[in-house]
Amino acid sequence: MKVYVSYWLPEAPMKLLAEHHTVAINDKPQLPSPDELVEQLGDADALLCVGSRVDRAVLDRVGPHLKIIANWGVGYNNIDADYAAEKGIMVTNTPDVLTETTADMGWAILMAVARRVVESDKYVRAGEFYGFKPFNMLGSDVWGKTIGIIGLGRIGQAVARRAKGFGMKILYYDLQPARPEIVQELGAQFMDIDALVAESDFVSLHCPLTDETRHIIDARRLSMMKPTAFLVNIARGPVVDEQALLEALVEKKIAGAALDVFEKEPEVTPGLMELPNVVLTPHTGSGTWETRTNMAHVSVRNILAALNGEMPPNLVNNPAPR
Ligand code: NAP
Repeated sequence: MKVYVSYWLPEAPMKLLAEHHTVAINDKPQLPSPDELVEQLGDADALLCVGSRVDRAVLDRVGPHLKIIANWGVGYNNIDADYAAEKGIMVTNTPDVLTETTADMGWAILMAVARRVVESDKYVRAGEFYGFKPFNMLGSDVWGKTIGIIGLGRIGQAVARRAKGFGMKILYYDLQPARPEIVQELGAQFMDIDALVAESDFVSLHCPLTDETRHIIDARRLSMMKPTAFLVNIARGPVVDEQALLEALVEKKIAGAALDVFEKEPEVTPGLMELPNVVLTPHTGSGTWETRTNMAHVSVRNILAALNGEMPPNLVNNPAPR
């Protein structure tokens, strides 16, 4: 059968895929446009989707043989999974393999903004460091502070475990309270989102992007945060109203922000880049060679199962029979 891969991926998983199927890989240095995606996909049986948007308009134009869209990522808000299901197309994602790596990066940018790592690096490189000064480049403590986690799923829990190691008080908000053994392991306290935002020194976002979570952090909630608190977003950009965030930072309603994702990616709201108390990374939450290779292996495993007539291990929708 035919598989189209929408961006270059590491050799080992691609070799495995090619042992079973005819594989075509987009060889351009950028993701295909919707038109290119439809054209290159042709009458393929499977799409290994690397970052491309597969909305209704695209799904209405894909070939009749398409059985599975294996998203290379755990967040699949780029794919209209419900509409794919109506058309009998399976959608899968890559959970678990990226959990710890993404939590590491969330922690890295949290530490970076609190302890002014990026600013300090620029300062030393600019030749401005003439010797130790007791009150130079001071930051905020992380240890012992309160972290509020929005979305205590796989990554949220991994961040909470790191926070526990830093002796932090852990608050969380989710659609429902976590299982008792998780609450006990983490010592995490369930809280209404408004109370969490008001009480936390670090608000860390780990929910998926859905209709409900779009702008879950808006001007109102930003104004409820402590002026000494930081916002960390390593979930999806539109979870935060980025213009409202800019205004909150400029008006010093909060102390800083660390963003791995952006509302209108790859654009960054004008003004944010000028602020020294903002750390910006280019959607590299899961960005290590090991993890991104493992994600490709998971996508391949899902495709091999689906094309073999089996239930793929990471199915996220409920496709109609066809
Ligand atoms: P997960 O295990 O599904 O965790 C997400 C948690 O958020 C779940 O507990 C979920 O509850 C909860 N949630 C859903 N809707 C919510 C709402 N309205 N309010 C509060 N909580 C809500 O997913 P994960 O593996 O931890 O990944 C989380 C997200 O991180 C992904 O969706 C993705 O967008 C993002 N991510 C980003 C990067 C990066 O590179 N920056 C890398 C990996 C992942 P239910 O289970 O009840 O729905």
